[in-house]
Amino acid sequence: MNPDCIFCQIIQGNTQANIVYKDDMVTAFRDIHPLTPVHVLVVPNRHIASVNQVTEEDEMLLGHLVTVARRLAAENGIDQSGYRLMINTGPDAGQTVHHIHLHILGGQHMRIRLEG
Ligand code: AMP
Repeated sequence: MNPDCIFCQIIQGNTQANIVYKDDMVTAFRDIHPLTPVHVLVVPNRHIASVNQVTEEDEMLLGHLVTVARRLAAENGIDQSGYRLMINTGPDAGQTVHHIHLHILGGQHMRIRLEG
């Protein structure tokens, strides 16, 4: 838990968000500025700043992010139409929140590059 981290505050229930899933490892909520009709973020409950801080011990947690994303894609009706899973890391990728988050983007056809 990092008290200055907006996603830690959401996980703790100290900041409001549209939470669509939560378990003891991850929390998922709708992006506040959706880039696509479906835009959900899946985040580990433990504060990890970026992929650069990931270790082998996090492999199960990161795999869990993907299985939760698969379930949420189906629940949002985009599993057959298609979706993109994205983790931005560092300034060139445009990472703005320094707590790992998996974007689930779908509900429209996507060009290779999305402008936020
Ligand atoms: P990234 O650019 O990959 O770091 O993505 C950060 C994402 O977090 C952006 O798409 C923001 O719109 C989203 N975001 C920031 N603050 C909030 C919030 N309070 N609730 C939901 N989504 C947020």
